[in-house]
Amino acid sequence: MKAMVMHEWNGPYVEEDRPIPEVGPLDVLIKVKACGAGYTLTGLRAGLNGGSLPRIIGHEIGGIVEEVGPMVTTCKPGDRVCVSFYLTCGHCKWCVRGRETLCDNFGGFVGAAIDGGFAEYAKIPASNVIPIPEGIGFAEAGVTTDAVATNWHVFKERCKTKPNDRVLVVGAGGGVGIHTIQVAKIFGAHVIGADVSDEKLELAKKYGADEVINVTGKEMSKEVMKLTEDSGVDAVVDMVSTKQTFEESVKSLGRGGTHVLIAVPRPRGPADFNIDGGRFIFDEITITGCRCATRQEIRESLELVQRGLVKPVVMNTFPLGEANKVQELIDNMALLGRTAFVFE
Ligand SMILES: [Zn+2]
Repeated sequence: MKAMVMHEWNGPYVEEDRPIPEVGPLDVLIKVKACGAGYTLTGLRAGLNGGSLPRIIGHEIGGIVEEVGPMVTTCKPGDRVCVSFYLTCGHCKWCVRGRETLCDNFGGFVGAAIDGGFAEYAKIPASNVIPIPEGIGFAEAGVTTDAVATNWHVFKERCKTKPNDRVLVVGAGGGVGIHTIQVAKIFGAHVIGADVSDEKLELAKKYGADEVINVTGKEMSKEVMKLTEDSGVDAVVDMVSTKQTFEESVKSLGRGGTHVLIAVPRPRGPADFNIDGGRFIFDEITITGCRCATRQEIRESLELVQRGLVKPVVMNTFPLGEANKVQELIDNMALLGRTAFVFE
């Protein structure tokens, strides 16, 4: 099979002819029809998500089941499927509680610890394979597993957003942010989008932002206070997660507000930041983060897409052979919306 293989961290993808993987008893062989590619890959390619080399990366997989291992009963050849990219144990306290992305025996990621979707076929554990509902395309389903499901987890579990809450999305015009806005609207929120380019903010408005702020050369929190009669927002979802966005996001929170970090700044979380600790007590603010989404949340997200409540925004599609060129565009954040490789 044709595969794009990475032999060193941050190294180029090398096109190779690899044998089709042999399935074990609990594996599913997927004929890949599309594989999404977003900024998560930039960190993953640098080795920051663990794993080993050489590696076929790519986790936003949509495809058709080609073959299943003898013990697999949950899907069959011909089924349309996508993939959850956290390799979890299924029996620890967190897995049993339905918070499996916190798994005590976490086995790493599809596309880092095991080969992923930058190839014609991918061998995936059956427990990570999720059916694609009718009416959803392969690229859209792949993107839903990450960019939509993460936001579903954010608003349902981390912020517990209620109708009329004011939500600030930092990085609103990015590939995840435009989905953050759409999901916030499902919860009935009033959404303020912040970003650094008017082009991206136009996109944010198109996908539902009620108000937008171009924060270039401005203090974001002051602009937010102007828009909220000095009361601040109920939640901030921070896609950028630098020291500056973190501090400005916390300042933008109103009483009882929740700040959610989504991006993981390198190497690990914003360091050396200054926030007013008294706000934890006097304003009962919450600072938290989001560890992707569970398989159940991916299923729910696919249902939201099927019902037309969220539109996965796949604005760029490429053949896999262009992976190196596309990766450079992703690293430089030069693409609007989400990107996917599609297979004939
Ligand atoms: Zn577990």
